[in-house]
Amino acid sequence: MIDNNFLNEYGNILYQTERPSRYIGDEFGSYNKNFYNAKGKFLFAFPDKYEIGISNFGHKIIYDLINKKENLMCDRIYAPDKDFIDLLSKNNLSLYALESKRKPIEFDIIGFALQYEMCYSTVLKMLEMSNIPIFNCKRTEEHPIILAGGPCTSNPIPMSKFIDVFIIGDGEEVNIEVLEKYISLKGKMPRNEIIKELSKIQGVYTPLVNNSATKRIAQLTLDNHPTKSPIPHFTSVHDRAIVELRRGCGRLCRFCQASHINLPIRERKKDDVVKIAKEYVKNSGYDEYSLLSLSSNDHTQIEDILKELNCHYKSSGINVSLPSQRADKFSLEIAKLAAGEKKATVTIAPEAGTQRMRDIINKNLSEEQIISATVSCIKNGWNKIKYYFVIGLPFETYEDLEGIPKLIESVNQKCREEGLKYPQITCSISVFVPKPHTPFQFARQNTIEEIQNKIKYLRELKDKIKNVKFNFHNPKMSQLEAFYSRGDEKISDFIYELYKNSAYLESWDENLDLELYSAISQNLNINIEKTTSKEYSENETLPWEIINYGVNKTWLWNEYQKASKAISTIPCEIKCNNCGVCTNLKTKKVLA
Ligand code: SF4
Repeated sequence: MIDNNFLNEYGNILYQTERPSRYIGDEFGSYNKNFYNAKGKFLFAFPDKYEIGISNFGHKIIYDLINKKENLMCDRIYAPDKDFIDLLSKNNLSLYALESKRKPIEFDIIGFALQYEMCYSTVLKMLEMSNIPIFNCKRTEEHPIILAGGPCTSNPIPMSKFIDVFIIGDGEEVNIEVLEKYISLKGKMPRNEIIKELSKIQGVYTPLVNNSATKRIAQLTLDNHPTKSPIPHFTSVHDRAIVELRRGCGRLCRFCQASHINLPIRERKKDDVVKIAKEYVKNSGYDEYSLLSLSSNDHTQIEDILKELNCHYKSSGINVSLPSQRADKFSLEIAKLAAGEKKATVTIAPEAGTQRMRDIINKNLSEEQIISATVSCIKNGWNKIKYYFVIGLPFETYEDLEGIPKLIESVNQKCREEGLKYPQITCSISVFVPKPHTPFQFARQNTIEEIQNKIKYLRELKDKIKNVKFNFHNPKMSQLEAFYSRGDEKISDFIYELYKNSAYLESWDENLDLELYSAISQNLNINIEKTTSKEYSENETLPWEIINYGVNKTWLWNEYQKASKAISTIPCEIKCNNCGVCTNLKTKKVLA
């Protein structure tokens, strides 16, 4: 709530900032629970701008689950943009929680969402602006527990000097368990003893106590999905209700971290999806809802779900959006149901241009399937196609790169044969990052020079095709992502130096200071490219091995060896590949 005390303190600088609506809270759909009545107080901290954080689905789940508990409350805080953080600093003011307007230091737990590695320096700045010591070993009884969850905790080592408690795996139950245990012990034992107790919870890694941790797995139930969430005062990156269809992906693409760390597959039942979608759309007022999954058309009941929801929302102006469709399971029926009358852009992810390369990455997708899915869309009124590709993949040759424009030529050729107009094709091309807990965790990343040569080559080839546009992801950003994600303890010093030298909101290209990176590399004698282009052998110890996601290391190594011979693996929906998850974690896949 905005009260006079708050306005007296912050009102003046709110008038001066570029977009005050980021910092005032009171959004429609927010809980606004009473700070003083709550026994346990959790502050969800998102280390990126408000409009990015407010769209994040993971934070909506945790926010909703904690606030549904009568004696607990969850408030939110997002990283202020540079102008506001400067105003706060200049006026010697702390950050504050969006709803209660209380200072972060007054909460029991501050939980950071580590969604991508480039947010690390921002986490440190947010701690400083909350008057909380940066290093975990310097915190005392008066300080909240600093927790972190999200995909980056798959290698917590680089942030292990700054975070007290890491959540490994699904956070639905474990965040609440940590908060409830903390409040039951608070005042009864010293802070470091409480942290020791927290370390006994499965799914928790505490760098000052544990030397390993095993991930936590949540089941997808009707109760643990939000059906309301705060609606921002202005446009955010995703203005729509989100309904999670399934978690985990059994396709096991060898570069994909999300697929491997979220195993086993768990699907939500059709009736639950329909019920959640209707409730969420009604409560939010959104005119669009998205069916979220790593691979939506793999859901065993996707067609029935879309039919029922389309029938319910017929002529209401409320539309569904589906993330990219898999070309091998492409269904025109699904595409039509998802598009309604709009027929905007169809997105397909071949990932690689040649069959050899798609077998190496285990994409299980043929050229014929890609062309047939594309042509089918063109025939039915779509004229904008978006393809996703990755370059710099292990065992890639220049012939594999040539496969990308050749694939587009083949689409054009097919259009000529069928008398169709050429579509407008946009290729979004990212750079391979060797991520922990994947078969390609052992592989080297291409150097910047290698990638730049590949980009130059692809640009030359592209110039010969009129109807295609290539958008390349920043190779330096991908290199830094690899540097952090496969980093060890030394990387903590690097992150600290970045923070000391004012690095902030670094995932935004305009804030990335490459000169600062090379200066710190020299001072600390850390060679970034040596870390990212290192290939690991089977028996080498990997810094992130302390975290157990259930997948056996030998299985990952064997997959890497199969990749070198371009041998693919059958999806786990069809046949179990004994990756280790179900036996090691005593769980099983759940298909609707
Ligand atoms: S153990 Fe088998 S069923 Fe379970 S996630 Fe691994 S491949 Fe899939």
